[in-house]
Amino acid sequence: MTEMLPEVAERYKDGFIAHLSQTVPGRKEMVVTGAQGCYLHMADGTYLDMISGIAVSNVGHSHPEVVAAVTEQMGKYAHVNVYGRFVVPPQVEIAERLARVASGDLDVVFLTSTGTEANEGALKLARKYTGRPGYVAFEGSFHGRTYGSLSVSWRERYRQSFRPLLEKVTFVPFDDLDAAAAAIGDDTAGVIIEPIQGEAGVRIPSDGFLSGLRDLCTDRGALLIFDEVQGAMGRAGHWYASQHWGVTPDIITVAKAVGGGLPLGGFISTADIFSTFLDPPLSHVTTFGGNPVACAAAIAAFDIIERDGLVERSRQMGEYLGAGLSRLMSQHEILVAARGLGLWWAFDVASGDLAMRVVAAMERRRVIVGSMLNADGTIRVAPPLIVTTAQLDELLNVLDEALTEVEAGL
Ligand code: PMP
Repeated sequence: MTEMLPEVAERYKDGFIAHLSQTVPGRKEMVVTGAQGCYLHMADGTYLDMISGIAVSNVGHSHPEVVAAVTEQMGKYAHVNVYGRFVVPPQVEIAERLARVASGDLDVVFLTSTGTEANEGALKLARKYTGRPGYVAFEGSFHGRTYGSLSVSWRERYRQSFRPLLEKVTFVPFDDLDAAAAAIGDDTAGVIIEPIQGEAGVRIPSDGFLSGLRDLCTDRGALLIFDEVQGAMGRAGHWYASQHWGVTPDIITVAKAVGGGLPLGGFISTADIFSTFLDPPLSHVTTFGGNPVACAAAIAAFDIIERDGLVERSRQMGEYLGAGLSRLMSQHEILVAARGLGLWWAFDVASGDLAMRVVAAMERRRVIVGSMLNADGTIRVAPPLIVTTAQLDELLNVLDEALTEVEAGL
């Protein structure tokens, strides 16, 4: 843990307000000084991190093997990319791994830096491969904030000021196969869906929904795109969340946890589908996508997840967490529902205002959970996959106290 004098912390709080673009109003009190495992060190003390930088730090913060891999790669070279002219071994190594754990013949990866870029690439790939203009997306979806991703992201509040967006996007209710069947037509290039909707509150589809979508896309010649940006790398108890249902899409997009804490994403598809990007050459390029240092971190993180059995651990710990949440649900009236798979959980309290109060009450007790972009009364829990039962007990105890405190104030 790195110490920071209170007056230095105050200077950073002032500087944050003065010089960093604000997306949420108000002065912020937590000044980060370090992070290790499941803990965040702040100028005022240590907090238990139960959201992993939003599903990024699956192997925990500052894992020594990730730190060593990054340091070693940085000493060799940081950046050499010239739009695919050089073979960069760390890019090959991470692409091989991502393909190895993907189902079917999803063997080829285009590396990006972020999730929204991965989705932009997938949307372009689907349009170019099919020669069609349209997309089908789902109510509750979140795919990112750049124009293409925003166009297939659902919540009106975040879309309204940015029109015109992509024109031919049809939103249908999540988990409604009949509605999807009515929307997917011969002008549909791609159907983009989070197999488990993250920002909508960890919404899990019925068995049969994703395979039904698979069949519809195959029948009608549209590409099925699974946005696994939040759900991959063991988060849901599988390498890719969609493997829970054994459904293989045409394109998978990833980011977040893939980079082991560094910015790395990608879209994964077949050699046949990707061949369309050769015509004309350089159809889709990026300067920093697949940065070698980020790839080195990603390789280390992937190998830790595999060697330490963190995918299975996510499943086991998720069951423990789910049982604890069920127990609390029977004790607290305002805790109305909880859903999850692996270590990807959300619970609902009676209103958006109550959710903010519960998050704040937990923060005062030094446990970090978070709100959701597309579900106001819902709170997220997505701990690092290395979390212990003792740490989950601490989370549950603090949640119990926070719910009691908030209920007492009603
Ligand atoms: N897709 C999903 C499902 C996400 O959860 C997110 C981020 N919350 C994104 C895309 C966008 O990723 P990024 O913030 O890296 O652009």
